Amino acid sequence: MRLVLVGPPGAGKGTQAQFLAAHFSIPHISTGDIFRANLKSGTELGKQAQTFMDRGELVPDSVTNEMVRDRLTHDDVANGFILDGFPRNVAQAEVLRAILVEKKSPLQAVLEFSAPDAEIIARLLHRAEIEKRVDDKEDVIKRRLEVYADQTAPIITFYRNEGLLISVSAVGNVEDITASAISALSRVAQ
Ligand code: ADP
Repeated sequence: MRLVLVGPPGAGKGTQAQFLAAHFSIPHISTGDIFRANLKSGTELGKQAQTFMDRGELVPDSVTNEMVRDRLTHDDVANGFILDGFPRNVAQAEVLRAILVEKKSPLQAVLEFSAPDAEIIARLLHRAEIEKRVDDKEDVIKRRLEVYADQTAPIITFYRNEGLLISVSAVGNVEDITASAISALSRVAQ
């Protein structure tokens, strides 16, 4: 199963990705997690990403695309992967398509998690209190939502046109959302 997850920050992509990765026995690749791990260990990549992440902006494509290209060369993606947080704009979606064409292993589905804005904002503010992520401050949250609407949402049309898009509501309890995602995915080619 080669799968991309898309949805606004706070839609629960990370949580669902973990369950789906376990269900399909494939790796969960979160670009946000990779950036945060690099920040923590103080690598050059982490330094390059930090100012953008702190402001809620996208890390430049030149940095992000190469990081994902490299990650997709690892042995563990032989049976598929779940990409969470990538692509985040149409240019990244085109790079991903080219990488996968080269590997003769195109995407099989793009799962969109949708939730109303008010719900998203409430969840992010709640998460801010618990996780203390530096980019979960109110002004940065606002910027991340704008970036999502302006730059990321267009990939939904891109993937709908490719015939890959599946939409699932991200409102409700976590198990029910996982179950509807698995049921929707069972209808796509394996
Ligand atoms: P969330 O989905 O909650 O917004 P993520 O953990 O996916 O958070 O991403 C956190 C930050 O990491 C983003 O705001 C952005 O700065 C950076 N980032 C993650 N993925 C990408 C990407 N594909 N392109 C550019 N920047 C990214």
